[in-house]
Amino acid sequence: MEKIGFIGLGIMGQPMALNLCKAGYSLWVYARRAEMMQSLIAAGATPCNSAQSVAEQTDIIFTMVADTPDVEQVILGEKGIIHGATAGKLVIDMSTIAASTTRMIAAKLAEQQIHLLDAPVSGGERGAIDGTLSIMVGGKVEQFERALSLLHVLGKNIVHIGDHGAGQIAKSCNQVVISQTLTAVGEALILAKAAGVDPANVRQALLGGFAYSRILELHGQRMLDHDFTPGFKIKLHQKDLRIVMQIAHELGIALPGIALTTQYFNTLVGAGQGELDSAALILAQEQLSAISLITDKKDTYTRKI
Ligand code: NAP
Repeated sequence: MEKIGFIGLGIMGQPMALNLCKAGYSLWVYARRAEMMQSLIAAGATPCNSAQSVAEQTDIIFTMVADTPDVEQVILGEKGIIHGATAGKLVIDMSTIAASTTRMIAAKLAEQQIHLLDAPVSGGERGAIDGTLSIMVGGKVEQFERALSLLHVLGKNIVHIGDHGAGQIAKSCNQVVISQTLTAVGEALILAKAAGVDPANVRQALLGGFAYSRILELHGQRMLDHDFTPGFKIKLHQKDLRIVMQIAHELGIALPGIALTTQYFNTLVGAGQGELDSAALILAQEQLSAISLITDKKDTYTRKI
């Protein structure tokens, strides 16, 4: 059995690494804050003091960190994976980052015959805990096949999209749908509330029809409760949309729906709310219409609907 490394033990990485432990794999882990490794150590994983050290001791190394520069740092930076890995080892980056950087990293690793798969995910913290993530994979088919049994521990719907970076492009497409659904769910709940109809009942009714989505189910409820415990942080969602808009800019295509949602996230991050769950998008929508889902105080203006 190949030895497994895992780097980045945040909201997603922690349960994913735990699932690999539970499936019987031997794990070597690294998190820059030592306390983040405690639950993995308790589950039998070996702690390391750098990404390089993880790579020295393992065959397949997962990374699940925040943003594009973070992936660059843990793979190519000082004490990064590239300094510990040898020919034949495989790096699987499951973070959501820019596809162009994925291709650059793949080329750098290939100079030392080290392989890379980009394998970003969808399904949130719940999917990470339950091992039901959707995984979008870019890279060489033979490395995809090598990783498949491991990926099956982490997810249910695992699709090889294409060569290096293709997984990240698929993830951007995923975020195009997710972020606009989030915006649409918030707008629907605001409309219900403003019209004097119980938004909770509206959500319940919509769940049974074509308006159903996992976002309506999970995030709709979080919006109604104003429960913004992350989950998926606004600052990370904003980062994903920045990646999407960069691609749109490079390709010369219009994604006006993403531009709209980006404005909401920008104001929330600007207001110091970037650590909240992305369902907190409703706060910006409430402000725009001067209405709150959790109080009966409608607004300070006369509304005519
Ligand atoms: P998170 O809770 O913020 O965890 C990120 C982890 O990466 C943190 O533990 C952080 O360490 C570590 N990290 C960041 N930069 C690092 C660096 N340069 N060196 C070493 N460690 C570093 O974020 P998350 O929600 O798990 O998300 C991780 C990735 O998955 C992101 O790319 C995100 O977009 C993607 N994603 C998230 C979700 C979701 O629902 N949360 C869903 C799909 C995809 P510290 O703790 O020291 O900061």
